[in-house]
Amino acid sequence: RSVATVVSGNKTSRLVRERLRQQVEDMTGLFSGFRPGLVVLQVGDRDDSNLYISTKLRAAAEIGIEAKHLRLPKTTTQEEVLQNIRSINENQSVHGLIVQLPLDSVNSIDTELITNAVSPEKDVDGLSCINAGKLSRGDLKHCFIPCTPNGCMELIRQTGVSVGGKHAVVVGRSKIVGAPMHDLLLWNNATVTTCHSKTPDLPEQVSRADILVVGVGQAEMVRGEWLKEGGVVIDCGINHIADETKPSGKRVVGDVHYASANQRAGFITPVPGGVGPMTVAMLMENTVQSAQRFLLKNQPKR
Ligand code: NAP
Repeated sequence: RSVATVVSGNKTSRLVRERLRQQVEDMTGLFSGFRPGLVVLQVGDRDDSNLYISTKLRAAAEIGIEAKHLRLPKTTTQEEVLQNIRSINENQSVHGLIVQLPLDSVNSIDTELITNAVSPEKDVDGLSCINAGKLSRGDLKHCFIPCTPNGCMELIRQTGVSVGGKHAVVVGRSKIVGAPMHDLLLWNNATVTTCHSKTPDLPEQVSRADILVVGVGQAEMVRGEWLKEGGVVIDCGINHIADETKPSGKRVVGDVHYASANQRAGFITPVPGGVGPMTVAMLMENTVQSAQRFLLKNQPKR
């Protein structure tokens, strides 16, 4: 049989970002100079966080979102982070606030407390209990959907395969990937099985998936032989493995073994260039959506 159709996140994210750029331009025209505002709050100075943040800021600038990087030192206390969040919550020119995780502080900070301090109306990462709760109950129109699962749904849409009535399997149950992915598939009318590290028969569960979404953080763990033939495979994994043929000495692979999965799946996302760029695009989408909700509520002078 022929190999799988590759579902490109680079291409799809470009289309999304272009649409958003147009929407922001319209907004700015309609409401004299108005621009959606995004703040990225970072504590500390992790290399990986710096890289992710610069990607987000660049995407925002291209779209016309006013993005600000608020960088707090490693010595920041929990109370100081909370104070900053409270003041941003009250700032009318900010429509989206994300706290870059993990927090890189010498002090002990309760991450859950921090993510829940972000006003639900500005929580464009969708990580607060309010937004997660709404999503889990199927109130998709009134919440912010976490960016990675939202990006996965967009890629599934690109395949043309309908979700309703299908058997979907999610591997992983984290707050940012697996759990919200489960909810999103469920409320798009799939029958969903969610697997995790205590699932005893992972290959068997995976083999039943019409639609498979993997977010485990284990390089190439899901093997092609496990897959249902012709299914949709969405790989969220970002893992660095040694590769002497590369100048950097390493390369990025997903949580799915691409070479074997490609022989069996109907559709597959590549790594890199699959889910990764979609995550950033969906953050922009949520920010623009938040700004639109703000305008609807406040209607500033035209
Ligand atoms: P995480 O918080 O470490 O969660 C991993 C999940 O996978 C957990 O639910 C864990 O089960 C499960 N798991 C781990 N090993 C397993 C195994 N051998 N069999 C079955 N389940 C297993 O990771 P995450 O933040 O969700 O991230 C997952 C992956 O997605 C990573 O590769 C990460 O880099 C990537 N990611 C990508 C993006 C993007 O923008 N593309 C964004 C976020 C994350 P338990 O709950 O039982 O521990």
